[in-house]
Amino acid sequence: MTALTPPATIAFIGLGMMGRPMASRLAGAGFTLRVFDLSQKAVSDFVGTHPTALATASAKAAAQGADALITMLPDGKAVRQAVLEGRDGAAEGLSAGALVMDMSSSNPVDTQKLARDLAAKGLALLDAPVSGGVKRAVDGSLSIMVGGAAADLERARPVFAAMGRTITLCGPAGAGHALKALNNYLSAAGVVVMCEALIVGEAFGLDPGTMIDVFNTSTGKSNATEVKGRQFVVSKSFAAGFTAALMAKDLRTAGELASHLDLDMPNLQQAAAYWTAADGTLGKGADHTEIFRYAERLAEKEGS
Ligand code: NAD
Repeated sequence: MTALTPPATIAFIGLGMMGRPMASRLAGAGFTLRVFDLSQKAVSDFVGTHPTALATASAKAAAQGADALITMLPDGKAVRQAVLEGRDGAAEGLSAGALVMDMSSSNPVDTQKLARDLAAKGLALLDAPVSGGVKRAVDGSLSIMVGGAAADLERARPVFAAMGRTITLCGPAGAGHALKALNNYLSAAGVVVMCEALIVGEAFGLDPGTMIDVFNTSTGKSNATEVKGRQFVVSKSFAAGFTAALMAKDLRTAGELASHLDLDMPNLQQAAAYWTAADGTLGKGADHTEIFRYAERLAEKEGS
């Protein structure tokens, strides 16, 4: 199987916070892009700044003539809808032998089913979710967790290399999505405990900036304290570029995975419920670092 090297044609579906910079990296590397998003504005903004990319009117139209398809959508349900459902599904437009890469953070059990359904149409699937956020999507240094066949990964490697620095084959179909959900459990836990520590410390009279500096030179250090503490939480800019809704979805995915495997994981299920409640309280579009505000609200309620 030939590797997908530029100027191979890639259909890219989902030009949101992450999809846009990721597709931009592919255009910069010389890949030919056919793009689609339900938001017409997202499509016109992208082709406005990347004149070599072709705007298309449906997932199926994007897929026509493409060597590979990338989805970067909110969740596995949106991916299934874009790829398989209806007459406008991308799979209808792809030729047998084309490679599908779902880079969204989807549910791994659904991904296993999607892989079987696509295989029946002669299409291979790699799940390839990413970690690193918008900043690392922009500079092409994402961590990419791959599930699927090793030969398909070798075919896709030049595509992934344009977007990420670390590319790890985690196992068969669904393995990347499982690892991503579990990674975000660790990530979300780090953000919540940092916020609670900041609230308690500040109430005692500690300076939040000093707290972050000390955590970062002590055993409390985490991605949350290093990357999000001063920049998004202490500054109260709350602009990490990843919503609380998507983080809550990832925690529910991790919780559902544990339940699917018949594993009792009280902390995980509690974290999933905590983030789901926070998402409902914080309002549409809230950044995940606004979990600080939710923790503050709970603290006030407890104290009153
Ligand atoms: P986003 O909401 O900013 O973008 C999603 C895009 O998909 C939107 O432009 C939306 O219009 C489009 N869309 C939704 N359904 C569609 C459909 N059926 N067909 C075509 N387009 C459709 O989300 P995001 O922050 O870019 O995240 C995308 C995925 O990446 C999610 O699974 C998320 O969990 C994951 N992720 C996000 C980050 C981050 O920092 N934002 C980091 C790692 C992983």
